[in-house]
Amino acid sequence: MSTKLSIAFTKSQAVTGGVAILLKTAEAETPAGLADADPAGVYARASKVGKFTGKAMATLDIVAPHGSEADRLVVVGLGKAEALKPHDWLRAGGVAMAALKGAEKVTVYLDVPNLVVTPKAAADFALGMMLRAYKFDNYKTTKKGEDDDSKANEKTVKVAIVTADPAAAKKAFVDAEAVAEGVILARNLVNEPANILGPLEFAAKAKELEKLGVEIEILTEKDMKKLGMGALLGVAQGSVRPPRLVIMKWDGGKAKDKPIAFIGKGVVFDTGGISIKPAGGMEDMKGDMGGAAAVTGLMHTLAARKAKANVIGIIGLVENMPDGNAQRPGDIVTSMSGQTIEVINTDAEGRLVLCDALWYCNERFAPEFMINLATLTGAILVALGNLHAGLFCNDDELAENLLSAGLASNERLWRMPLGKDYDKLIDSKFADMKNTGGRHAGSITAAQFLKRFVKDTPWAHLDIAGTAMGSPSDEINQSWGSGFGVRLLDELVRASYEA
Ligand code: MN
Ligand code: ZN
Repeated sequence: MSTKLSIAFTKSQAVTGGVAILLKTAEAETPAGLADADPAGVYARASKVGKFTGKAMATLDIVAPHGSEADRLVVVGLGKAEALKPHDWLRAGGVAMAALKGAEKVTVYLDVPNLVVTPKAAADFALGMMLRAYKFDNYKTTKKGEDDDSKANEKTVKVAIVTADPAAAKKAFVDAEAVAEGVILARNLVNEPANILGPLEFAAKAKELEKLGVEIEILTEKDMKKLGMGALLGVAQGSVRPPRLVIMKWDGGKAKDKPIAFIGKGVVFDTGGISIKPAGGMEDMKGDMGGAAAVTGLMHTLAARKAKANVIGIIGLVENMPDGNAQRPGDIVTSMSGQTIEVINTDAEGRLVLCDALWYCNERFAPEFMINLATLTGAILVALGNLHAGLFCNDDELAENLLSAGLASNERLWRMPLGKDYDKLIDSKFADMKNTGGRHAGSITAAQFLKRFVKDTPWAHLDIAGTAMGSPSDEINQSWGSGFGVRLLDELVRASYEA
């Protein structure tokens, strides 16, 4: 269970036990707030002995500082002031959270000499703490960690953040909390095992967003049959658990504004189907719904912070299983668009789910743009590893907006090519196209496939197979399911569509 944080912002506070956190840039002589936390001046000697200079994200941990009310004094380095990026405030918060080592009380002195700490930075620091505090151990009946009894794991840590304008920080924190909730929802969904989270259970989770004012519609198998979603249904037919398509609507913008739309691949488990995957690592395929998780988390965030935009979220929820009734290689399915698809490899199922979801979204809502997220190809890991998600886009302005949101949120994207010439690779002998183009350019041919279902609507496809799960842990994420995409797209909406 994640550590609960109770966060308050205040103008000044004396240290009375617990951990005192101070910040220091590389240039500053000493951290600010030192007089309060370190009346006897132990910092000077400790920093010298510990060779602490304030390098970015380095920490100096002084236990039981002489003369101080604090049990521990932790100084977090920010690096050079001019190199400080907005995202670094989240990282610093994450570092501070990790430095608590189970303490239940912390006072953070955010002031830094010669540096203006904005209310947004203060809120981001708190957001970093919350994201770092996340832990998915619901299924461990004996908890391990700093403290071995599970009760202690459920404690609430009291956080007081001392900052120049606490009222403004508190206001900024309302948005930050909405972001934390959305990211944590996405992480939870990805981390849940597939026996617990099937298409029906996932749909029920999405339905909970009604509490925030999100309108929810859930299409059943029957509804989808009527709509002619043969591609999505073909994937689902091998599973005893029926598919669902969930439509989430948030109307925070002006009535006349076209909606923007986010579409997620939600394969709750991907065995590969009849083209079954090898056993090694197959357990990770419980995360093949990372796109749908990000869209659900994003909708939560946007609604919770009452985003001034009209937003559609659509997730296609299916399970890909081998079975007597499963689809076979060589089967030809008809998508909702009318285009036919020869299924060469039943493991290339994500695009089959997405193509019907994208077509449906475009036809029904005529959105200003569509962005789909999907753990789509292993090939994107070959190309980019797990540090960038692949961005495929038919519209340069949308691509630019996404890339800059990626830099701001540090959920990074790398633009990959699209091009007619790649289309040859998915020509089929028997149908309009086949569902895989083979090993070469595997991520690109997947994107070319999707492109055939978006007409001229500005569209981006984010291949998050490398970043949604098992990406390297960092200051603000120690979880297998990272929640990638929520902060990125919240930033996109905020920066490019709400102003
Ligand atoms: Mn697959
Ligand atoms: Zn898949």
